[in-house]
Amino acid sequence: MAFDIDVLRVKKGDNVDLSSVDTRGTPEWDGDDKDEGKAALPALNERLETLQELLYAQGTERLLVVIQAMDAGGKDGTVRHVFEGVNPTGVRVASFKRPTEAELAHDYLWRVHSQVPGDGEITIFNRSHYEDVLVVRVAELVPEDRWERRFDHIVNFEEMLVDEGTTIIKIFLHISKDEQKERLQERLDRPEKNWKFEEGDLGPRAQWDEYQKAFEDVLERTSTDDAPWYIVPADRKWYRNIAVSEIVIQTLERLDMSFPPPEEGLDKIVIPD
Ligand code: AMP
Ligand code: MG
Repeated sequence: MAFDIDVLRVKKGDNVDLSSVDTRGTPEWDGDDKDEGKAALPALNERLETLQELLYAQGTERLLVVIQAMDAGGKDGTVRHVFEGVNPTGVRVASFKRPTEAELAHDYLWRVHSQVPGDGEITIFNRSHYEDVLVVRVAELVPEDRWERRFDHIVNFEEMLVDEGTTIIKIFLHISKDEQKERLQERLDRPEKNWKFEEGDLGPRAQWDEYQKAFEDVLERTSTDDAPWYIVPADRKWYRNIAVSEIVIQTLERLDMSFPPPEEGLDKIVIPD
């Protein structure tokens, strides 16, 4: 049975209520259990590897994958598992941290625009310009009249990228507050995960509801036909990996790519001894 990614897509005009989306849900997955879910990933990795090679070889399409989530939402793990096996030459991850002084001395899209994919490339945004209407809004880093206008800037910016030849998909990994607690606790308990623990992450956790509201506004106001958001239930990592793989793969398949035509007369060429 085909996995219909449209079920996860936020349509224009949708009213998004994240509390009604089950973070442990497994929409469109009709396998039995976790083991079967995990076993399905390698075949998806292979399909993505083939499509990425085609994208790179054809050298005319560009794919931007934006990933957003609460802390411990699984952004890093998703990148690692979904893109396992792709050729690193054509795939890049851009991670957006707290802006540097130089970045703060420019408009908020400046650092973002310079990282978008070029011809034949896939770029994954681990966090993105959406932080500028999420953390910036909830932590009140700029006044409301400034972040409020950013929704329109962002829709227009992405429309420009799409018009000029970039394909955009945006993924919100939706975890529950309980699941976040477990994952943060694991970062405290397991020495090899200690490096990921930041006490600062407890601030956003305390403002969970404000963040969920900010995410709902993002999903409602910036999901367009050309640059759609997908809400991926992400408490179950195996499901998250399958769903994100399907979204990326099916988006690439729709590009209907082909290898560039070979140089003339290849059949007559003899490789000298
Ligand atoms: P991590 O993804 O765990 O490396 O954390 C990156 C941190 O940078 C998070 O706390 C984000 O909220 C923060 N961050 C990313 N972009 C911005 C931004 N535009 N303004 C303020 N903080 C940001
Ligand atoms: Mg972090």
